[in-house]
Amino acid sequence: MAFYAYDEEECPIHASLAVKGERYYCMECFLPVKARNRRALSSHFYHTRTSPKCRLYSKTEDHLLAQLQLEKLFPPGAIQLERPFLDISRIADACWEEKKIVFEIQCSQLEIPEATARIKDYASQGYRVVWLLHDRLFNRKATRPVELFLRQGLAYYIHIERGLTSLYYDQFEVLAHGKRLKKGKKLPIDLQAPHFLAKLEWKDFFPKQVLDRVASDPFYFKGDRLNKALIAHYSPGAAMSMEHWRILEVDLGRRPKRPGRLRGWFLLYIGYPYMRMLAQLGAK
Ligand SMILES: [Zn+2]
Repeated sequence: MAFYAYDEEECPIHASLAVKGERYYCMECFLPVKARNRRALSSHFYHTRTSPKCRLYSKTEDHLLAQLQLEKLFPPGAIQLERPFLDISRIADACWEEKKIVFEIQCSQLEIPEATARIKDYASQGYRVVWLLHDRLFNRKATRPVELFLRQGLAYYIHIERGLTSLYYDQFEVLAHGKRLKKGKKLPIDLQAPHFLAKLEWKDFFPKQVLDRVASDPFYFKGDRLNKALIAHYSPGAAMSMEHWRILEVDLGRRPKRPGRLRGWFLLYIGYPYMRMLAQLGAK
């Protein structure tokens, strides 16, 4: 399903302006599509024939809904949905022209080569990809390599709610051995507030997930993990939380199993405070 399709003259047209009896073609696979009006979802085009390889064909209702909600989040006209990039034969879910950002809403699985190709293609046009991973499929207990890969860069989670606004969020987490071993609370992010990261010195107490993000792309949104890590540069409370995640990464990442209850209690009340004390002594 898609909001736009080509008419006979290959001009993109919105589904709400489609005329009955006219022919329309998918912007990605060029197979015939038809317009449909559904009150709950607004007008969209659907394929009249199966086209499993077409990305627009495989888009679900949740996907369209998330696109509309994302568009509404910004001032009118700021976001362009299904913006075609002809040079790289791609159609961005949503494009923020002013900031050169492409939002990719991911409601289905994908492989690392496809994810890398998309990032590279948009970069060649001067655009940065921000992934919004649908948390019905991602952010689950089992993690696939692609989620690990995307989460090292600019990828957040999206919780899509019908009739409500979607929640865009980040979180601290420990991913290891194909599993999500630990996740922190949801950190709502402000997609309208992107920032470049200034060059900073990152001390030893920062968790790997923060350092990976910095190395991958020094760019962040208000409220995300990187934003929290910035606060830790001057707030001792936030710095302690960073260290907590660093220790969890080391400890949980080392062993395939979570610690038993006794070991967990020992670490929490004796082990971690002791390690923290040692780290503080070392920092002096
Ligand atoms: Zn198609």
